[in-house]
Amino acid sequence: MEDQTIQITQSHSKKQKPNSEQLEFGRIFTDHMFIMDYTVEKGWYDPRIVPYQPITLDPAAMIFHYGQTVFEGLKAYKTKENKVLLFRPEMNMARLNLSNERLCIPRIDEDFVLKALIKLIEMEKDWIPTAEGTSLYIRPFIISTEPYLGVAASTSYKLMIILSPVGSYYKEGIHPVKIFVEREYVRAVAGGTGKAKTAGNYASSLKAQEVSEKQGYSQVLWLDGIEKRYIEEVGSMNIFFKINGEVVTPELNGSILAGVTRDSVISLLKYWGIPVSERKISIDEIYDSYKNGSLEEIFGTGTAAVISPVGELNWEGEKMDINNGETGPLSQKLYNTLTNLQNGTEPDPFDWTLEVK
Ligand SMILES: *Cc1c(COP(=O)(O)O)cnc(C)c1O
Repeated sequence: MEDQTIQITQSHSKKQKPNSEQLEFGRIFTDHMFIMDYTVEKGWYDPRIVPYQPITLDPAAMIFHYGQTVFEGLKAYKTKENKVLLFRPEMNMARLNLSNERLCIPRIDEDFVLKALIKLIEMEKDWIPTAEGTSLYIRPFIISTEPYLGVAASTSYKLMIILSPVGSYYKEGIHPVKIFVEREYVRAVAGGTGKAKTAGNYASSLKAQEVSEKQGYSQVLWLDGIEKRYIEEVGSMNIFFKINGEVVTPELNGSILAGVTRDSVISLLKYWGIPVSERKISIDEIYDSYKNGSLEEIFGTGTAAVISPVGELNWEGEKMDINNGETGPLSQKLYNTLTNLQNGTEPDPFDWTLEVK
């Protein structure tokens, strides 16, 4: 695998690059993509960078029927000096294999796929927007391709990497969102696929999202699937609470996705000497801390938004106003520090960034 060379086919017609100010999330794609195939006989083979294009699949391809697929999400940033930085990309490669393991998808060679990703970014570096808060979103994913309707693990797959220039998540600066505590639907259960980045988790989350949006909320707070009491995640982000000076986040219990941003926030808090713990947190505990005035801040963490402060939590009609609906000082400091590290405007004591040369 390591010895495989990546075949490159240049695109002849280059697309018009979008204006930095009008960028959305995930609607525009660059000129090239990476593809590699897998069969049981050959393993992963034929790694290639080709012009961005549709793919042809048999209608019986297993991905369409049983959803055996995994994905990743990370970003490339351009610094003021025109350097290109990735943020902890080896964590995404490792997590892709954890997801693969859960979905019975063959392992990838993490070093090789990271090399391919870097090669693709090098070719597309003119696509990385430079305006504040913008970046190039990187979406590696694997689909099952065997044409077969039996319920079994596919014997063939495609791994692809596509790139999308994305705008700032916060057009008018970081601002808090309203969150609805979900009591009917659940995102995942222990033993299920919650800790894997796989399509089904997102398909099954849409219903709750739709219902909460109709009531004026932007995301739901997911509780555990058994007792519907312990907090898991917010939307498709991990969640943190600052209570009485201490930061707490749900421990990784098998149904929670282990976010790279979550891990980075925990490391930063420890580095700053702020107490942080990973443990079970019930919604009753949060309500009690709200009532007794010790609940200081709530924020979600994820690659897209980095830090997403929560301004209101609605639990069965009880509206909890968090920090007067304003961004708390810790949320703001974490947001500033993480984005500064990611775009190279602050020295990186953790060695988290990788320069693409
Ligand atoms: C991707 C994801 C996260 C955040 O992970 P990051 O690596 O920080 O982007 C959290 N929860 C879910 C369900 C996710 O899919």
